[in-house]
Amino acid sequence: MNGPPLYDLTGSSLLAIFAHPDDESLACGGLLARCAESGVRVSLLCLTHGEHGQGNDVGHSTGAGRKQYGKEDRELLRDLRAGELANAAQILGLREVVILDHEDGMLPWIDAGKLEADILDTIRRLQPDVVVTFDEDGLYWHPDHIAGHERTTAAIARLGNAGPALRYVSMPAGKMRALVDATKNAAPGDDPPKHILGVADADAFGSKAPAPTLVVEAGEEFAKRKLAAIRCHHTQLAGSAFESLSEEDAERFLGTEHYRRAGVGSLNDVFFERWGTSITEGGD
Ligand SMILES: [Zn+2]
Repeated sequence: MNGPPLYDLTGSSLLAIFAHPDDESLACGGLLARCAESGVRVSLLCLTHGEHGQGNDVGHSTGAGRKQYGKEDRELLRDLRAGELANAAQILGLREVVILDHEDGMLPWIDAGKLEADILDTIRRLQPDVVVTFDEDGLYWHPDHIAGHERTTAAIARLGNAGPALRYVSMPAGKMRALVDATKNAAPGDDPPKHILGVADADAFGSKAPAPTLVVEAGEEFAKRKLAAIRCHHTQLAGSAFESLSEEDAERFLGTEHYRRAGVGSLNDVFFERWGTSITEGGD
């Protein structure tokens, strides 16, 4: 197993907070799997069921690649995505997954105080050492992701220095573009990949993300686990670059993860910082 050596981190805890099933695997599946393998109690709070995402297995086609979804389709998709998340959680080694009932696509517009209170409830119950959520670019400027970043930051700010440490995750610029191009070239003549789990613009990932303060290399084994976890999100997968990405290439395109220190919560270092390369310039 390559990558930085593992340490016994039993007794440590991490809570990831994201907006939809699949965000956890795509954003930081390498770190989550690496922590879980080291004995960290890793939990996930997912703010919605992702019921307005695309659903490869539900809805009906209206031609030209477009689909329509009725209310029953949305309910079915909600259940399917919860099941997919449970499968991904098992691969990543998560101990607990909480999925809230907020409406997918509406996080910026629902009551901010209510969302903050929900986040605080889970933090108070699980008492994590560190919380990981989106950076301010929401991986690719997704409004739900940006709302998740803002509400999580506000919730932890309320706890002051007694709160958990907070780290933001973003994606290295250019990696998703390189992935799409590589999988296109690997399968000339076949249907080229059209998206990254429903996002058509591969260049949006990491573009203008704030500079990270920590770069973590997941290592080959954990990059493979990350790819396997991403592939559990079957309803989002058809036509995406992850369908044709080989296990051998997982580390190259998925192995590097970027994290940034937040200015709120505990200001102590966190246990996973010893795995990464710290970058002092460009952080806040
Ligand atoms: Zn998402």
